[in-house]
Amino acid sequence: AEAQLAQAQKMEAVGQLTGGIAHDFNNMLAVVVGGLDLARRKIAQRPAEAGVHLDGAMEGADRAAALTRRLLSFARAEPLLPDAVLPAKLVAGMNVLLDRTLGERVTVQVDTAGAHWPIWADAHQLENAILNLAVNARDAMEGAGRLDISVADVAVAAGDSADVKPGDYVRISVADTGCGMSPQVLARAFEPFFTTKPVGKGTGLGLSQIFGFVRQSHGDVRVDSEVGKGTTISLYLPRYHGVAAERNADAADRAARPK
Ligand code: ADP
Repeated sequence: AEAQLAQAQKMEAVGQLTGGIAHDFNNMLAVVVGGLDLARRKIAQRPAEAGVHLDGAMEGADRAAALTRRLLSFARAEPLLPDAVLPAKLVAGMNVLLDRTLGERVTVQVDTAGAHWPIWADAHQLENAILNLAVNARDAMEGAGRLDISVADVAVAAGDSADVKPGDYVRISVADTGCGMSPQVLARAFEPFFTTKPVGKGTGLGLSQIFGFVRQSHGDVRVDSEVGKGTTISLYLPRYHGVAAERNADAADRAARPK
């Protein structure tokens, strides 16, 4: 009976999730249909106005496509293609992408001076994770703000941290001067589909994907957040005791590594 109850509760949660997504998707579709309908009525007399409505429809369609893309990649849980990666190099290579994503109101500071160790991870997913953290940080900052990304080698000793197991890690921290998270939001922030953002803007999948990626890479996530002050999210990714591909691009060597 207990198992049945658990199953029923699970089904209820799934129902709520899919209901919520269908609701979001329907809203986006309403924007598309509404825009097309207005455009159709204006096209003969006022082509310029029709164009504005078509743009609106296009935007709705783009949002719906983005939602389904994220849903699909979440459902598929894209396979990891890990390799030896130098996080300092990867993050330094994201400068232009970050500047473009964050716009002018957010100042970005990147510090990779303390990072030398390689890690064993999927570079593409790591880049996505950092970008997601940066976008969340941007969204948390109204007006001007500061985003600090630091990459550093850290040796965590027994008793150092309740969240991170002892060991050698490369720590990637993304710190913002944004609104911070209340204890209620923090408690749920990593749940799939949990979002405090308006319909069509947040999917609530960013942090849960990041958590999944980090755990699959045998790492840990730490969050420090204070309402009104800001949030720091740190990814601890285990040090890889081998040679980074960037320094040893021998194809035969790479092929011989366990995948
Ligand atoms: P989404 O960004 O689509 O809402 P996420 O899973 O990335 O989904 O984040 C879930 C929620 O966690 C956000 O809606 C927000 O309330 C909170 N959150 C995430 N990052 C931050 C941050 N840097 N500062 C404040 N709140 C945050």
